[in-house]
Amino acid sequence: MTIAPLRLRLDSEALCDNWRLLDRMSGRAACGAAVKANGYGLGASAVSARLAASGCRDFFVATWAEAEALAPLGLSVSVLHGVRYEDMGVARSGIARPVLNSSQQVARWREAGDGPCDVMVDTGMNRLGVDPLDVTAGLLDGLVIETLHSHLACADEDVEMNARQRDALAALCGRSSARRLSLANSAGIALGIDYAFDLTRPGLALYGGRQRAGHAQIRQVVTPEAQVLQRRTVPRGACVGYNATWKAPCDSEVAILNLGYADGYFRGFSNRGAVIAQGLRLPVIGRVSMDLIAVLVDAAPTVAEGDWLALDYDLPAAAAVSGMSQYELITGLGDRFERMWTG
Ligand SMILES: *Cc1c(COP(=O)(O)O)cnc(C)c1O
Repeated sequence: MTIAPLRLRLDSEALCDNWRLLDRMSGRAACGAAVKANGYGLGASAVSARLAASGCRDFFVATWAEAEALAPLGLSVSVLHGVRYEDMGVARSGIARPVLNSSQQVARWREAGDGPCDVMVDTGMNRLGVDPLDVTAGLLDGLVIETLHSHLACADEDVEMNARQRDALAALCGRSSARRLSLANSAGIALGIDYAFDLTRPGLALYGGRQRAGHAQIRQVVTPEAQVLQRRTVPRGACVGYNATWKAPCDSEVAILNLGYADGYFRGFSNRGAVIAQGLRLPVIGRVSMDLIAVLVDAAPTVAEGDWLALDYDLPAAAAVSGMSQYELITGLGDRFERMWTG
């Protein structure tokens, strides 16, 4: 049996605490969980089982393949991409509800019978969703709708568009059979209780993302760990890595770690990222390679070949340093990591 070269430390307690915090912030609305893209890279089944045990009842994936992967857990799952023609077989099996996004999807679902569904209305993002005017004109009449959704385009900013989208959804209250209305993602929950409606759909903040002041108590969930393959002394004036972007100002101690951009540790961390070891912040030096990085370990004389070191992966800070979004930093973590849950 091979032993994985990389570890992703995943903190169960932090994940569940984050959900409980977002649930409290959602007031009387139920708090669901977006677990698309394999639970934002952490593992959809592992995340969903833990959140279900904490009381979460509504789960959101993008595709029917993602819904099938969760089917053994027996949860209430909605598929955000709705139903393509190709999805009708699996959609009729009842493992999840489609979130119908267009009048064609509504027609397709009607033709198939009268199973329960969700519907997305577009209130200004112009991504997915039916036109609110079509809803008031009767597009959804007779459909059995569990939740009528919309989605905020700018919830992480203080712009007037947020209130406009909120009011556009509120205006559809009572215009369909929907039992619930839902609008807020992670950042939307922090906009205030008038954005919560009946159900919220956080994703990023569950996994440690912080986009607004209201997320201050969200805890870090994900910590990548890599192993030292080699420790070397780089003499003064010599260079490290591709394109020789780091030059030793003096004789320097350098550790080479088995992690790179193919694992989702992106090139933006070149000469900017860091490792946390023995309470020290050790800088990444030179360019991030596909499978390797170099770290300056002058301050840590005992770091040696075979040691496991944790990357500095506090999401807002790591996003600022690397130029990637907090979303990309977790969804990009590859499958060379063994995902190890603790807590
Ligand atoms: C991904 C997604 C969410 C979750 O968004 P976060 O910003 O990660 O909280 C909620 N609703 C919809 C429709 C989504 O696509």
